[in-house]
Amino acid sequence: MVSPLSASATSESVDPSEQLFHHQIVIVGGGSAGITVAAQLLKRSRSLDILIIEPSEQHYYQPAWTLVAGGCMSLEETVQPQKDQIPKAAIWRQDAVTQFDPDHNRLRTQAGTVLSYDYLVVCPGIQIDWDQIPGLKEALGSNGVCSNYAIGGATYT
Ligand SMILES: Cc1cc2nc3c(=O)[nH]c(=O)nc-3n(C[C@H](O)[C@H](O)[C@H](O)COP(=O)(O)OP(=O)(O)OC[C@H]3O[C@@H](n4cnc5c(N)ncnc54)[C@H](O)[C@@H]3O)c2cc1C
Repeated sequence: MVSPLSASATSESVDPSEQLFHHQIVIVGGGSAGITVAAQLLKRSRSLDILIIEPSEQHYYQPAWTLVAGGCMSLEETVQPQKDQIPKAAIWRQDAVTQFDPDHNRLRTQAGTVLSYDYLVVCPGIQIDWDQIPGLKEALGSNGVCSNYAIGGATYT
């Protein structure tokens, strides 16, 4: 399934000493979106070569944090080992993407691996910029200031 490419098969911007890998479909992010896309594609064809790049050891089911805040679930119940969430027919690479090169259908990871693909799905979630509201970050978690959008925040709610 995983096919190492020789550096000479790609453009000169790649260090010749780097090992390149190719997958039919590469999915960036193993959150709810990445896992769902992989599962839906595999449901249609089990033979697809799908790689999921996800750095986290744990999978967080964020929508359930509303239930944590409501006292119906524990935070622990919303956290599962990532390996149990990745569809069995997909490959998980525990790494993070640091650079995209869409002109060459390639990307680079934190570990220094260069991957090429036929199709790319990008779903790394969002970053919450608490600092856009001065003082908010410091205030969260005390005096009744709460947000279910931070891990642990729902417990305080
Ligand atoms: C309290 C709460 C309630 C919610 N309720 C709902 C709801 O009712 N319905 C709904 O549709 N949505 C709801 N959401 C939103 C919900 O969280 C998202 O719909 C869903 O989790 C988004 O999934 P995602 O995969 O896009 O992002 P995430 O679940 O955040 O996953 C992104 C993944 O990408 C990985 N990643 C990040 N950067 C990189 C990188 N550089 N390389 C590789 N991987 C990377 C992260 O480690 C992470 O695992 C709720 C969220 C919260 C917090």
